[in-house]
Parts: sequence; structure tokens; C-alpha cells
Amino acid sequence: NENLELIRASLKTCPDFPKNGITFIDILGIFSNPAAHRALIDLILTRIRKLDTKIDAVVGLEARGFIFGPQIALELQIPFLPIRKHGKLPGKLVTIDYVLEYGTDTIEMQVDILKSGAKILLVDDILATGGTLGAAQKLCAKLDYNVVETLVIIELLGLGGREKLANVDHFTTLFQYS
Ligand code: 5GP
Repeated sequence: NENLELIRASLKTCPDFPKNGITFIDILGIFSNPAAHRALIDLILTRIRKLDTKIDAVVGLEARGFIFGPQIALELQIPFLPIRKHGKLPGKLVTIDYVLEYGTDTIEMQVDILKSGAKILLVDDILATGGTLGAAQKLCAKLDYNVVETLVIIELLGLGGREKLANVDHFTTLFQYS
């Protein structure tokens, strides 16, 4: 697939970032190349339009889920909602803590924006250990939102990420890296 190749060519592997021993995949090159950017959005839209269920809203995770999530929502003419790290969102919030390799983190979402039962497409750039996306699914469930599809650009294999996800039959990834 030509679109997949355009995107793949825009990804960079960065050894020893942010720490020694970690290989970080930099996806931002997709967005500095308009052809790759277009290819990404088109590819995601094609996958989403094939789903049996109609999506009511896109929920994206800070920070890279904010780069392409709103574009998907706009193309589908549905709302975009952000999930942010603790302390960034005003108003009434729902919150969840989750375990990281070292320590814990907290993510939050504003309440009362969508109706209970809303069908959600949840997006982030990368699934690594799955802690973040697993917690995001639970956060949506706390608001009675129904996450019908979870999508990432890249899944890093061998870190057990999928095991932390609910509804893996409805997990879409464009690339897998081992
Ligand atoms: P997890 O909770 O699955 O371990 O980590 C996923 C989160 O960390 C995502 O929000 C993702 O943006 C970030 N992340 C982890 N590894 C990488 C990486 O190699 N590249 C990028 N761009 N983000 C990463």
C-alpha cells in the first residue's frame, strides 16, 4: 500500500532516547511531510469507515493523539475530546491513576460533554506497555462511554501492551515494531 509506505518512510527510530537503552520512535516526521500527513489521515478514515458501528466522537490522548485526533473528528464531523495529564483541564473531571515502569501517573477528562453510551474512537500515536491506553479505556468507561475502536499508529511488540487493553478485537494499528 502506497500510503503505508509514505508514512513508514517518515518514521524515525532514535536509539537511546530519552534514556540509554530505550529506542524511541519519532512519528513527528509524518506531519512535516504533507503527503505522508494526508496518507495517514486517509488511511485512518478508510479503516474507520469500514467499521460496522457509527462513531459518535473521537477521544485523543495527550500529546500526539492531539495532532491527528481532531483531524479525524473533523473529517467525520463528530466531536473531539482530549484526555490530559493531571492538572491541565478545568471544570468537573473524571480521573484515573495508572502504573508506569517507575511510579504512577494520572489522566483526566472533562465530564458532561457526550451522552452516556456514546460510541468512541480512542486514538494515540503509540502503544508501548499499554498502561496509558488501558487507563484511557477505563476512564471512558467511568463516564459510560463505549470505546468501540482503539487506534494507534504504531504498536511496539514484546512489551505486553495488548494485554492491558480491553476489546482487543477492536484494536487497530497501522504498524508493528519489534
Ligand atoms: P505506554 O503507556 O503504552 O507504555 O506508553 C505509551 C505512551 O508513551 C504514548 O502516549 C506514547 O506517546 C508514548 N511513547 C512510548 N514509547 C514511545 C516511542 O517510542 N515513541 C513515541 N513517539 N512515543 C512513545
